[in-house]
Amino acid sequence: MPKDTRPSRYDILFEPVRIGPKLAKNRFFQVPHCNGGGYRDPSAVVEMRRTKAEGGWGVIFTEQTEIHHTSEITPFIEQRLWDDRDIPALARMAEAMKSHGALAGIQMAYSGINGPNLYSREVPRAVSPGPILTFTADPVQARPLDRDGIRDLRRWYRKAFRRAQDAGFDIVCLYGAHGFGILQHFLSRATNRRSDEYGGSLENRARFVTELIEEAREETKGEMAISIRMSLHEDGPLGFSNAEVREFIEMKADLPDLWDLAQGTWDACSGTSRFKDEGAQEALVRGIKALTSKPVVGVGRFTSPDAMVRQVRQGILDFIGAARPSIADPFLPQKIEQGRFEDIRECIGCNICVSGDMTGAISRCTQNPTFMEEWRKGWHPERVAPRGKSDRVLIAGAGPAGLEAALVLGRRGYQVTLAEAGTTLGGRVARERALPGLSAWGRVADYRAGQIAPMPNVSVHYESRLSAAEVLDFGFQHVAVATGAVWRRDVVARHHLDAIPQAGLPVFTPDDLMAGQGPFGGTVLLYDDDHFYMGSVLAELLVARGCRVEFVTPAAKVAEWTENTLEQRLIQSRLMSLGVTLHLSQAPQAIGPGGARTVCTYTGQARDIAADAVVMVTSRVAADSLGPDLAARRADWAAAGITSVTVIGDADAPAPIAWAVYAGRRYGEELDGPDIGDALPFRREIAQRTE
Ligand code: ADP
Ligand code: SF4
Repeated sequence: MPKDTRPSRYDILFEPVRIGPKLAKNRFFQVPHCNGGGYRDPSAVVEMRRTKAEGGWGVIFTEQTEIHHTSEITPFIEQRLWDDRDIPALARMAEAMKSHGALAGIQMAYSGINGPNLYSREVPRAVSPGPILTFTADPVQARPLDRDGIRDLRRWYRKAFRRAQDAGFDIVCLYGAHGFGILQHFLSRATNRRSDEYGGSLENRARFVTELIEEAREETKGEMAISIRMSLHEDGPLGFSNAEVREFIEMKADLPDLWDLAQGTWDACSGTSRFKDEGAQEALVRGIKALTSKPVVGVGRFTSPDAMVRQVRQGILDFIGAARPSIADPFLPQKIEQGRFEDIRECIGCNICVSGDMTGAISRCTQNPTFMEEWRKGWHPERVAPRGKSDRVLIAGAGPAGLEAALVLGRRGYQVTLAEAGTTLGGRVARERALPGLSAWGRVADYRAGQIAPMPNVSVHYESRLSAAEVLDFGFQHVAVATGAVWRRDVVARHHLDAIPQAGLPVFTPDDLMAGQGPFGGTVLLYDDDHFYMGSVLAELLVARGCRVEFVTPAAKVAEWTENTLEQRLIQSRLMSLGVTLHLSQAPQAIGPGGARTVCTYTGQARDIAADAVVMVTSRVAADSLGPDLAARRADWAAAGITSVTVIGDADAPAPIAWAVYAGRRYGEELDGPDIGDALPFRREIAQRTE
């Protein structure tokens, strides 16, 4: 749709906005976000940012860029500006960001009390001494910055400002949010326990940031815009509360060129859709714009153009800040600009992207499987290669893997037949979206179903559970088996490698509960050896059904992998407040009439738990035998005209939804590609000796 057919109420989003000496072309502001790559994978990060530039963002930021080797939050997934040799890689980043007219921003960080310095081995320096406050509770303390130390730090920042300008950036963002940046450590009484001129009153606590901004202006000759990224609220009796934040902004109203407001901790700011709605920080940010003449940016997992317009019209925000929505759809601004609302790939708020950062891996996105593969694999969120030498493809199963494969192959121009056993598209997400808190996950299916619907070359067939014999009868050139997985009914997963005695009690699986079966009352023992979201979500469902829930897990905490999606504390506290009884570090030994005997995973001490039913959340196995059946009849393929049969997604190996979408993408991208033999299927950077 051409630009001028966009309804005029969205025009406000495309007005240019001044940020100090710079002019942003529109109000779409990609706030700094991690990506699991950092300085270790510079080209992957550069091309990821370039894709956002192409997608129409007005401002694009780097992730946390550490300015000095005396402070690093993780050993390898942030950017670094430690000395001049870091400039070329960051210059490439700035060039990529500016390639389509966006302003290029660099987020500068000195982590202070949040940097354990595991790589540099320097003694951490903080505003006040104390244990390092990382997620991983590193057993390291920081020493306080004395006056000389503060002077050193200001000099290091000055050097970083110079280097950032030399690298070609337009905006410097001083990081003081999420508890991670030293500006916040100075501002907050929780981390600033000083009694000199940098501690005590708000004016004193604001001294460092004031000096820093003045020096940034001086060093960059007023040519760069300077912003502060700060938390809107820090919990705790001494925390930098929203009231104090407002006092500070009023006091220093015109100090930075832009106020970039994030929620509180990273967990609070990047809440999942299970716990936080779109625009959740509105109450904390409303009214701040009136305290300053400088523009204000805020975040809120914004994917709805109407919500964005309302925030701007009501004078809450000047810029629509986005990290995850820009990951899920780098082309969000362009799609709104062109009125292509139905093409927006909305973030589902699952925080799989965050888990990449938390585990030190290249980040994935559930909705956008091309994220961080722009350089590594040459994938693009909106473009695909034209069709290769073959033509007709059959995909069995319309879950995330099958739908994504159909979408990519459809775009490439293949004749695609998508056969689905059931009556809906989406596979597991069609079922899981009905569970408590997971409705946004349905977007995985809705986006893809919406995209393939108008494609004349993709035909969808429902109630078509295919057998190997039928597939051989059809005679497609390529067959993708994306038939998914089902949950096991026994304990076999991580803790138990074999089944245990299991008789006398009804046992249900997550699939049963999602199909509306299972207990609607009584006491249910839920055994979770999966450790992601399913166990706790089903506990919530069972409570809503009127059951009493005994939650048994061999782990020392509920849903322990959700530390990586920033949800663990929220999940455990929700279950506790719902009255779910937690049996941590326990695993069932036997299930019999009336309940289960469990044993402590540390001491082996036994415990009897009375129950009327059991729900097993353990592991999954392939849903049907289509893949193995076709493999067994390999000798018949040629006569049927079949060249390849490929099992993808959960049918291949069960994993989170993002893995299935990725598998579908990969199948679609690589069909008819060259045989690369044993070569690596992605590009990587190999460190060169530099001295
Ligand atoms: P994935 O996560 O790998 O995409 P899902 O379990 O979400 O897998 O989806 C698999 C889909 O495949 C389900 O919708 C299921 O109904 C469908 N399916 C399972 N077996 C067959 C089959 N033999 N033929 C066609 N569709 C099937
Ligand atoms: Fe959104 Fe999930 Fe993608 Fe992160 S991984 S951007 S939360 S859809």
